[in-house]
This record gives sequence, structure tokens and C-alpha cells, in this order.
Amino acid sequence: MTEAFTTGTPKGRFAPSPTGPLHFGSLIAAVASYLDARARQGEWLVRIEDLDLPRQMPGAASLILRTLEQYGFEWDGEVLYQSQRDAYYQDALQTLSTHGLLYPCGCSRKEIADSATHGIDGLVYPGTCRHGLSPGKNARAWRIRVDDQPISFHDAVQGEIGQVLSRDIGDFILKRADGLFAYQLAVVVDDEMQGITHIVRGADLLDSTPRQIFLQHALGYATPEYLHVPVAANAAGEKLSKQTLAQPLDSRDTTKDLWDVLAFLRQSPPIDLLKENHAYLWQWALQHWQPNSIPRQRAITV
Ligand code: GLU
Repeated sequence: MTEAFTTGTPKGRFAPSPTGPLHFGSLIAAVASYLDARARQGEWLVRIEDLDLPRQMPGAASLILRTLEQYGFEWDGEVLYQSQRDAYYQDALQTLSTHGLLYPCGCSRKEIADSATHGIDGLVYPGTCRHGLSPGKNARAWRIRVDDQPISFHDAVQGEIGQVLSRDIGDFILKRADGLFAYQLAVVVDDEMQGITHIVRGADLLDSTPRQIFLQHALGYATPEYLHVPVAANAAGEKLSKQTLAQPLDSRDTTKDLWDVLAFLRQSPPIDLLKENHAYLWQWALQHWQPNSIPRQRAITV
């Protein structure tokens, strides 16, 4: 935490990827980030993370925004679209390159799979191209050189989290072989440029946070506060997502859906709230927001 954060307006954000309509799982992150920001009299921003064009569903971004409105969310300022921000990501890459932290990688997926070990979040890149491309290899992706300094942070729900990037993750990609900037870079640049002080999101991103803190340090950015809420999982233990065929929210009973999110987050919403409109429910939720009651779990089956 830096000084600026204790004096300025708190700022939170919701940053959906427009791969499909909002579902119960995404509503949890939206509600938690909203209540966390508003309960601090802070601002709440919406950012559409539409970098990964191949994974997008046409029309999903406007559908998500419309759904947020139907549920009574009110965001501050303009919605930011990552697809329009390549120049900023390129600048950040340039800075990292100047610091000697960036290098081109010519390895194919297969070459990596054949030689890598398993880490916390997939394969640990074995560092093949760290000291230069082998003859005959072309740059495919751009990676950042990580180190063996432990990175730890305090998460408001999940407690102390630590990683050693060289051991747990490896040198990770910032610009992909298909030319797209990686989520890890874009999210760090945007959170800094938008002045986000409080990041509230699903615990599926907990293991990404040390990478993001590493990038913040390398770029001279401040590190925000973090709160990772449990994700909703199905009976098979899979996170609710488009891939696991989570049902889109239908906005027919917004109060009920929001009530269910509050119950999921163990905010103990009274049953009588179900008879009210969502504006009333929001008022209650804001007055009774208790982040300390959120279970210290990465996933909860719904
Ligand atoms: N766009 C990411 C997602 O939808 C969230 C990124 C974040 O909150 O940092 O999973």
C-alpha cells in the first residue's frame, strides 16, 4: 500500500471478459467489488477485457453492460475497452525491455511441454530462450524474466499468499505468439492507469496476483489492496463459466439473484428482502457489508 492510496478516493473495478453473458459466478465478483468500493464511499469502474479476440462472443460486451444496469449497478466514468489500449501495453513492454527484463521466445508449445515441469498454474517455462534465441529460431512470444525473490501479499479474505515466481510460475508471456498482449500485462497497466486501489475478484485469479505484483514492481507502479472471493463451483468442482455451461442471468428476478449472491458471500441477507425491489436490497447490502464474513475458501459449490 502506498501513501496515495490512504489519502485519495478508493477505487474498485469489475473487469469482465466478454466471452459470453454474465452468469451467477460473474455476478459474485461484480457484487463483491461494487459493495467493497461503495462501502468505502469509493468509485467503481467497469473495464471490458476484450483483448483475447478469438475467445469473444460478438455482442457480449454490450449484453454484460445492459445486464449490469438491469441489476442496478451504477459505474463511474466511461467504460474502458482493452482492445483500444495497445499503445499503452506496448509502452509498458518497452519499459520492461529497457530494464532488461523482456526477451523473445521461439519455443513451440510442444517444445515447452516436452521439457517443462508443472507449477502452480500450469507448466513452468524451462528458460530455454532466456539467454538468446537458438540459431534458426524466430521470436514467437515475449517473456518476462522472473527471479527467485519470494512475493507475498495479504489478501483480505484469503490471508497471506506467497509465491516464488521462478519456481512456481517461470518466465511468463507478456505478448503472445499471435501478437496479442497477455492478460497479466494489460490488467496491471490498466489498474495503474485507472488508479484502482482495491481489487476484488474471484479466487481463480489468486495465483495470478504475484505475477501482477512482480510487474507492478518492475514498472514502478503501486500495489493495490486485494480481496479474492470464493468462486462458485458446480457439483463436479468446476468453476461456473461459459465453458462449464453456466446459465446466463436472465434478469427476471434481479432481487433473488442478488440475494443469492449475498447468501453465497455469507452476508446473512434477511429472507424478507426477497419481497423488495433490488434498489432496496442494494441499500441493505451496503449498510451491512461484512467482508470479514466471506469464507476463506477458493471455491464454494452451489
Ligand atoms: N477479465 C478477467 C475475467 O473475466 C478478470 C480480470 C480481473 O479481475 O483481474 O476473469
